[in-house]
Amino acid sequence: MRGQRSKQYRKLMKQYEMLFGFREDYQVLLDAEIIQDAARFHMDLVGGLERTLHGKVKPSTLIYSSWSIHRKLIFQVITQCSIRHLYNSEHKNEALIDQAKTYERRRCNHHLLEEPLSTLECLKSVVDSKDNLTNKHRYVIACQDGRVRAHMRQIPGVPMVVSLIRHLDREPA
Ligand SMILES: [Zn+2]
Repeated sequence: MRGQRSKQYRKLMKQYEMLFGFREDYQVLLDAEIIQDAARFHMDLVGGLERTLHGKVKPSTLIYSSWSIHRKLIFQVITQCSIRHLYNSEHKNEALIDQAKTYERRRCNHHLLEEPLSTLECLKSVVDSKDNLTNKHRYVIACQDGRVRAHMRQIPGVPMVVSLIRHLDREPA
């Protein structure tokens, strides 16, 4: 990533911090598709997130060392439905499932349903459970689904990482 663009992202995320109270450590909510696409296209998901958000993705065994004092941590978060999407995928990939299981699990509680909800329905309920246009848990969304992005754009203060982690989608609204 070129220096100029990298600086822009840093500035954008600073704005999210000031306007919407994003804290030092970011929680990035990933869907099944972006994890699968990253693997399929040999994209470096972790590196992309780190460069875009200027932090360090939390290793599966977190040991606080000197870097974690000086750098933001990025927590990869996945919902129960997205895990089920990985299981139900026609291109089921055990290694990817194992990887996703090391992420922070967001208990959307849709596991009680016979079928997982769609990514849109699940992420909608996780990000804005009361349907009052608030990103209560200050998630960053990493998802390429056009319908999800269109929905999240209506909610102020939802930074989105799209297009296989090439850029943040928009400025704070
Ligand atoms: Zn769910």
